Amino acid sequence: MEFDTIAAISTALGEGAIGIVRLSGDEAVAIADKIYKGAKPLSEAASHTIVYGYIMDGETRVEEAMVSIMRAPRTFTREDVVEINCHGGLVSVNKVLKLALKHGARLAEPGEFTKRAFLNGRIDLSQAEGVMDLIRAKTDKAMNVALGQVEGRLSKKIATLRQALLETVASVEVNIDYPEYDAEVVTHDLLIEKANFVEREIDKLLGTANQGKILREGLSTVIVGRPNVGKSSLLNSLVHEEKAIVTDIAGTTRDVIEEYVNVRGVPLRLVDTAGIRETEDMVERIGVERSRQVLKEAELILLVLNYGEELSSEDEALFEAVKHLNVIVIVNKTDVEQRIDLNRVRELAEGRPVVTTSLIKDEGVDELESAIASLFFEGDLESGDATYVSNSRHIALLEQAKSTIQDAKSAIDMGVPIDLVQIDITRTWELLGEIIGDSVHESLIDQLFSQFCLGK
Ligand code: GDP
Ligand code: ZN
Repeated sequence: MEFDTIAAISTALGEGAIGIVRLSGDEAVAIADKIYKGAKPLSEAASHTIVYGYIMDGETRVEEAMVSIMRAPRTFTREDVVEINCHGGLVSVNKVLKLALKHGARLAEPGEFTKRAFLNGRIDLSQAEGVMDLIRAKTDKAMNVALGQVEGRLSKKIATLRQALLETVASVEVNIDYPEYDAEVVTHDLLIEKANFVEREIDKLLGTANQGKILREGLSTVIVGRPNVGKSSLLNSLVHEEKAIVTDIAGTTRDVIEEYVNVRGVPLRLVDTAGIRETEDMVERIGVERSRQVLKEAELILLVLNYGEELSSEDEALFEAVKHLNVIVIVNKTDVEQRIDLNRVRELAEGRPVVTTSLIKDEGVDELESAIASLFFEGDLESGDATYVSNSRHIALLEQAKSTIQDAKSAIDMGVPIDLVQIDITRTWELLGEIIGDSVHESLIDQLFSQFCLGK
């Protein structure tokens, strides 16, 4: 494919020791040569080497620079790529970018480098989406999921399933083309077998969707409880526990504003956190109806009680408001004399976890974190080779594919003519293809890539 040459700053904007201006396209080396002066021109440098020299504006030295030259096709975009490493701050990186633009490069749109990698066939769409998730990953586990996707783990699974469907279609073709060849029975069994295999595998993938989505998007969490029970303390201890919350890795130009807390790899998105901090009482501040709504929409509710006080009617009302929701009950202040009836608390909890803590003494927080983690991640999340589906677009397509393969199965069972069954099978094949960007509409591609950060 033919593209113009694009350029952008590909390191985080802000105070970094090194800034990188990246160029990609047929003219990348030629344009860079116009603003570079070293021992010899860049056009004479071997591919995949780094040279030292100056970035020049006419006869004026602008910057001292290390320049990497990577010629197509073994590059991220599969085009010629030049990366100019400047050590100056933002100002000098910007100057270098401006010079590149002045000499014929075009400013890259957000995500355009990754888009080219996709359009030039180096990565598929699910891998490109993985790149975006990687940039935005909120915990190390979320990063692993994204990385697996970038490495093509999901793509491989999808390819296997599509291959199985293709073989099925092929065997149906044989049957249609040579009806005298009495393969009817064989075909029926084979179809059912393949369709079962595909459905099972789609189910497995969908089985990871819940966890995958939580890892990708975080779990919306609300902390509730009467004034003074320890809500702010709980929030603080969850925040303090936290080993780096990954919100901004190199290459990101946008900050994630929402507040995430990393609990054993589960990103909790604390809803209404500011509210807890400021007014202490959500009900008073936003009204009963509205707060019920907030609770209903939460994926996890941490209900805090006071160990040193008897259960009040307010506590009972809170339990009523969170009936049938995902709740962990925290009985806090175990360091003071017990006044609460724990049996009654367990009754009200209706089988949902009850954890006792003394936040002031930092006791019980481990148990609480385990309870949170095991509520959402039964089994072993660490196991490195699981394929997670985390992206809503992928999940929706898998669900559709599941329903078309089920249609195919019941058609086979009902003895529907085989060329009609073929339609459902082909449709399943297409739906799975959309996950990896096969036959997706151009406008969807534009929309997906526009969500990227600049310089990626
Ligand atoms: P909130 O009103 O629910 O947000 O409660 P806070 O977190 O602001 O805590 C209210 C008071 O209880 C503060 O003085 C805390 O220091 C204290 N507190 C919090 N946790 C504990 C605990 O485990 N034991 C004791 N004794 N006091 C606690
Ligand atoms: Zn408070």
